Amino acid sequence: MASGGGIQIPSRLPLLLTHEGVLLPGSTVRLSVDSPRNMHLVSQRLLKGTSLKSTIIGVIPNTRDPEHDTDDLPTLHKIGTAGIAVQVVGSNWPKPHYTLLITGLCRFRVSSLLTERPFVLAEVEQLDKLEQYTTTAAAEAVAAEGGDLGELSQKFYQAAVQLLGMLDMSVPVVAKFRRLLDSLPRETLPDVVASMIRTSNKEKLQVLDAVSLEERFKKALPMLTRQIEGLKLLQKTRKMSPDNEKRVLSVRKGGVFPGRQFNLDEEDEDDDGDDTATLERKVHGANMPEAALRVCLKELKRLKKMPQSMPEYALTRNYLDLMVELPWSKSTKDCLDIRAARTLLDNDHYAMDKLKRRVLEYLAVRQLKTSLKGPILCFVGPPGVGKTSVGRSIARTLGREFHRIALGGVCDQSDIRGHRRTYVGSMPGRIINGLKTVALNNPVFLLDEVDKLGKSLQGDPAAALLEVLDPEQNHSFTDHYLNVAFDLSQVLFIATANTTATIPPALLDRMEVLQVPGYTQEEKVEIAHRHLIPNQLEQHGLTPQQLHIPQETTQDIISSYTREAGVRSLERKIGAICRAVAVKVAEGHRFTKTETPENSSRQEDKAAPPELPIVIDHIALKDILGPPLFEMEVSERLTLPGVALGLAWTPLGGEIMFVEASRMEGEGQLTLTGQLGDVMKESAHLAISWLRANAKTYQLTNVVGSPDPLEGTDIHLHFPAGAVTKDGPSAGVTIVTCLASLFSGQLVRSDVAMTGEITLRGLVLPVGGIKDKVLAAHRAGVKRVIIPKRNEKDLEELPANVRADLDFVTAGNLDEVLNASFEGGFPGTSGTHPQLTSKL
Ligand code: ADP
Repeated sequence: MASGGGIQIPSRLPLLLTHEGVLLPGSTVRLSVDSPRNMHLVSQRLLKGTSLKSTIIGVIPNTRDPEHDTDDLPTLHKIGTAGIAVQVVGSNWPKPHYTLLITGLCRFRVSSLLTERPFVLAEVEQLDKLEQYTTTAAAEAVAAEGGDLGELSQKFYQAAVQLLGMLDMSVPVVAKFRRLLDSLPRETLPDVVASMIRTSNKEKLQVLDAVSLEERFKKALPMLTRQIEGLKLLQKTRKMSPDNEKRVLSVRKGGVFPGRQFNLDEEDEDDDGDDTATLERKVHGANMPEAALRVCLKELKRLKKMPQSMPEYALTRNYLDLMVELPWSKSTKDCLDIRAARTLLDNDHYAMDKLKRRVLEYLAVRQLKTSLKGPILCFVGPPGVGKTSVGRSIARTLGREFHRIALGGVCDQSDIRGHRRTYVGSMPGRIINGLKTVALNNPVFLLDEVDKLGKSLQGDPAAALLEVLDPEQNHSFTDHYLNVAFDLSQVLFIATANTTATIPPALLDRMEVLQVPGYTQEEKVEIAHRHLIPNQLEQHGLTPQQLHIPQETTQDIISSYTREAGVRSLERKIGAICRAVAVKVAEGHRFTKTETPENSSRQEDKAAPPELPIVIDHIALKDILGPPLFEMEVSERLTLPGVALGLAWTPLGGEIMFVEASRMEGEGQLTLTGQLGDVMKESAHLAISWLRANAKTYQLTNVVGSPDPLEGTDIHLHFPAGAVTKDGPSAGVTIVTCLASLFSGQLVRSDVAMTGEITLRGLVLPVGGIKDKVLAAHRAGVKRVIIPKRNEKDLEELPANVRADLDFVTAGNLDEVLNASFEGGFPGTSGTHPQLTSKL
């Protein structure tokens, strides 16, 4: 085909000989050149030239084997493609070379060689017409040609459309191909498609050599059909995923349309564009307050300008993701019905009447006054008494989400308030994180273990909590990471702690403390049978028809295998029983399944399946849980003078504590052992001084009978369980009783336990934790408890059955204590009968 109207290429063209494939008109390729002739062409022609014409060069496929290429000019392939060098990049690594980006324009035939050095220059004849591709005239011309060519081009076009149909249109490259397919003149299709589909260089060379349009269509069509067939086969054998399809589309890198560079990277850009657009939509849809929205839009603007590879991109992205995820205005509606709440609380929890009453009051006020700025409830009590579980029930009664934030060991205020975004790895604090997790702005947050907050150089987390918990401030809580205020006023905070002693005073001030004391033996039995056993059965896939734990067994577990104020360890022991029984039941099941009518009678003799339900009695209990861990040691230990039983309070509940004393010849020294704090040591000195001062009254003597108990005598006081630190003044009366027993040689009653602080004048002062202490005494099987007179009011809080089981002696002075501690009273005391306020 001769050159017609259209654009003309220069008649003299510098020629670039390349081993790297075949440039077809309409495609763009990247060529690396390093041979001396080509290098000269680039440096002397392309880089020096100033006109557009000087950027047009002829590209001729070098058909000589690259291995044997020499400096002489090979026989030139007769047909080449004139191309325009779009980009030239030079580099000297690993050796000097240029990389050219060339877009093919049209075919030419080499008429004659003009020069060979420094680069090849030839007289050429343009073969293809170069029309403006925007006109459709050429396409119409081809179509109008009719006959074979028209048919062929139509066929080719349809095949190309079919190929596209098999590819995923959501891949941007494919979408572009589709767009261009219709706008390109039909005559250019063979070249364009051949450069895009998977073809060998030899085949491309055939297409290049096909000067007549008809021949070109004929050559390219089989290649296109082959690609379609290949795809069909692939689709049949492989379940196509968009990923695969992307791979199947064999767009050679650089095989692009004129003036339009196909680049797989563009696809990412498109994605990214979509991404930020989605993010922007989300930002607008997040319903955030004005200030937050402004910050987000600003960040979004920055994000759009940032390249993805920048580390800050990810930071900003994460920040925006969090901002849109936060429940700025998403909340549940409280569905509060006090009667239902009462039933739910009662169903979930046995006993704890006082706590439940206060919780109901709290909820009732909430119902009457929706915007409650009331105090934060703080449940204080030993572990395993149901603090967390009451919190969960409150959330359930209100129909709110429940989220627990464990504060134990938190010693950095950033944990609460977040890190500033300038830090690497910065993140929001637990409050904001919790809100993100529940995705609602009015959850119930349980701040667990507020008494175990730490302090460190990184600031005081308790101070950060102050802002969170203060109803006056928390409507504009500012997390360092977010840096905009978030309204926490809808969140219902509940705190739990084991003791109020270590809660920072400012924090304690914001909370209303509700004591949750430990349970009595009877309460535990009830809790076990109403809640723990059914729960554990369910968790282990057992039914009451398979396992039965009688009340006596539960009592046994409580007294011999656990010693705790709560029920957590009891729950674990029940779990252990369930596991053991589950094995038996499962074995039994397998047995019955394999049983067949013929062999059933034979097998029955050997091993009958366990009879259901399996009843756990004392023997079974010992078999599953091992020998008892705790025994009633009280009566055994008090068989010597110089031992008394005290009551102590720990964050884990009340405990009984033995105090032992012995004396030996010496110089009046006092030795104290058993990890004691200063207060305890002072109590011991106080006790000895008081006893020495009153030795005559009570006929106390030393070893040899002298009236000063310390004369020629050393005394050793020991508080067993030496690994546990003991401090606090409440052991005063116990030390006095223990020493009085030692000096008088009389035995302390083995069923008496006591607590109380003493003064030098022999008065007994009130102490704390009476309820837990009494419960501990009750657990240990004590019969009489001596408490300070001024603690009498605390007894009202005790369960009726405990009060009925125990004798309470309220003592105002040590005289009364001693009187009540010894069988038949203590010699020298004013009254021979203990003052009883028995069976309160
Ligand atoms: P805490 O938070 O006080 O350490 P939890 O709330 O975790 O204790 O309670 C431990 C387990 O004991 C839970 O399974 C809970 O259901 C159960 N529990 C505690 N007290 C009661 C109660 N009064 N009634 C029913 N179950 C209880």
